[in-house]
Amino acid sequence: MNVKEAIYEWYIKNGRHDLPWRQTDDAYKIYLSEIMLQQTQVKTVLERFYFPFLERFPTLKNVAVAPLDDVLKMWEGLGYYTRAKNLHHTAITCNGILPKRPEELGGLKGIGKSTAHAICAFAYHQPLPILDANVKRILCRYYALQTKDEKILWEKAWKLLNTQHPYEHNQAMMDIGSLICTPKNPHCLECPLHISCKGKEEPERYPLKVKKASIPTKQRFALVIMQEGKLGLIQRKEKLLHGLWGFVQVDVCPSNANYLGRVSHTYSHFKLELDVLILNESTEKVDGYFTNEEITQLALSTVDKKILALCSMMGNIPPTS
Ligand code: SF4
Repeated sequence: MNVKEAIYEWYIKNGRHDLPWRQTDDAYKIYLSEIMLQQTQVKTVLERFYFPFLERFPTLKNVAVAPLDDVLKMWEGLGYYTRAKNLHHTAITCNGILPKRPEELGGLKGIGKSTAHAICAFAYHQPLPILDANVKRILCRYYALQTKDEKILWEKAWKLLNTQHPYEHNQAMMDIGSLICTPKNPHCLECPLHISCKGKEEPERYPLKVKKASIPTKQRFALVIMQEGKLGLIQRKEKLLHGLWGFVQVDVCPSNANYLGRVSHTYSHFKLELDVLILNESTEKVDGYFTNEEITQLALSTVDKKILALCSMMGNIPPTS
């Protein structure tokens, strides 16, 4: 049995066939899973986000006609909100119908080459390889490569592809990457690529490790501006968290405020530490005042939810029913 057959056989016996996006050939549902899974673990997507999103937006056409606020609300807590904005943009651009050609798919906002290939391979069984982080790691180890060169890795992905069973091959590579050829302590003896794997003696030498630069910490103040029992919020205009609602943030502590506590949140490129202050008057502009009940209808980022929880805990607003 050659390595391509071994990967196929392994998938038939051991693959995660129960995943809902593997029980459909609806390109939209597959596309949604691919986008959600880009920065988030399977468990989180499965337990909290995939089904509610599909219940609210059963088709891509439903996404296309919905306001962005509604899409962001369903994405709330999943983070990396650019994914939701791109999904909305793509739904409008293609009028709710995804193209079937990988080149056209790859031209849509937020759909890279590997995602385009994944959609085509999983929805239409087109013989195309994928190249996500897991597959890159397997290829580097299997071919004993220390390169990060995408061109070389795509060549290897094409070389290893089982063109007769592209669906099973790509799903297998995803499963092997997350279950067997893991970043640390890979389980080489259980791996279907084991026989001809060039990197199995020292798998952790591959791929080349790049030292992560430490991220800076920003310290700011979050203002809980109260007016007649309602909270003042803004809808963010800046790139980070664009479109989401939240509390005003400032760099200088206002004089007429009371200290509530501290919240922090780590983004991909910096850590944010916020001293939360409560005040009844402020020269800072807000976009509206909302009751706690009304706030539950808005899309809030995780850090703003933490502030809201702190307010409830400190007895400054009634807990949400
Ligand atoms: S044999 Fe080991 S190093 Fe090679 S692909 Fe499998 S798990 Fe990864």
